Amino acid sequence: MKKMYQDLVNLPGPPSFEREVKRYMKQEISKHTDEIVEDKLGSIFGGINTKSKGPRVMMAGHMDEVGAMVTGITKEGLIKMQALGGMKGDVFLSQHMIIYTDDLEEIPGITASKPPHLTRGKKEDTPLKFDDLRLDIGAEDKEHAEKLGVKIGQMIVPRNTYIETKDGKKVISKAWDDRFGCAMALELLETLKDEALPCSLYAGATVQEEAGLRGAKTATHAVNPDVFLAVDCSPCQDSFEGDEISGNLNKGFLMRFYDPNAIMHRGMREHIERLAEKHDIKFQYYQSKGGTDAARAQLSRSGVVVATIGMPARYIHSTTSMIHKNDYEAVKQMLLTLIRSLDSETLSEIKANV
Ligand SMILES: [Zn+2]
Repeated sequence: MKKMYQDLVNLPGPPSFEREVKRYMKQEISKHTDEIVEDKLGSIFGGINTKSKGPRVMMAGHMDEVGAMVTGITKEGLIKMQALGGMKGDVFLSQHMIIYTDDLEEIPGITASKPPHLTRGKKEDTPLKFDDLRLDIGAEDKEHAEKLGVKIGQMIVPRNTYIETKDGKKVISKAWDDRFGCAMALELLETLKDEALPCSLYAGATVQEEAGLRGAKTATHAVNPDVFLAVDCSPCQDSFEGDEISGNLNKGFLMRFYDPNAIMHRGMREHIERLAEKHDIKFQYYQSKGGTDAARAQLSRSGVVVATIGMPARYIHSTTSMIHKNDYEAVKQMLLTLIRSLDSETLSEIKANV
């Protein structure tokens, strides 16, 4: 995997704090094309082969990661937090988190939890909410915390950055969801920019996906695509009691045929199935209880044909996650094959197959 995957997961950027990720995306997109489309929320896309009379294809990752923001300081000097994205409190107990000041100075801390000595014998049956956790940065009191640089509205991000497993086949990091999609967008632009494609391609990333698919709405309006391909990480259950449609590492890309907010377009699903079989690209069917940017994009203007090409990832929406390099290859090969196949005639056939 190219270094940009590592660069991107290591950057901080919960919803509404995508500035550093966007700066990186803009710099890299500019190496491949001058045609940049931005919405007013912060999403960014690079266009290649844009003079094409074929379909307009949009491929999107999202720049934000789950994280939090500072909402206050207790008189004891603990930091109050607001979750940005869906996170369970118990997953974040005793974790190493970092507050970033506006000029990206790091203030490290750990999420405070009561040791068992204090809770023994007490009933604790209500689930712990993330927003009830406090971050301990070692401040003596409120004034000390302020002196250390803490202010309301700063972003908070988990510590865990890029590291490979001992066998060299998997990579552990925070923010695979969805810097993976951001890096994939850059890789597609780099790979396809000098090819004679049958379509135009706008590849990039949205903002604020984790806060409710917000950037997808405005970015899709700005790009006005015929086809929208979301590339996003989805949780695998294979390390627990999973089944064949609940996500497995090393079984190929996720064919997300159903989630509550987007049912994959039948014509598109059958087209992808045919291509994957013909080109021997590994995939697994995947049913999700969540949603991706595809859910929002499909309802743009008079409707958009959408598909999510999913990347299997264990433990997302926690402080870290794990992906497999073979699945990365499958996602990349499927996207390249799919984009190369999307001429006007093929898209008409897909659309007719509702
Ligand atoms: Zn995501």
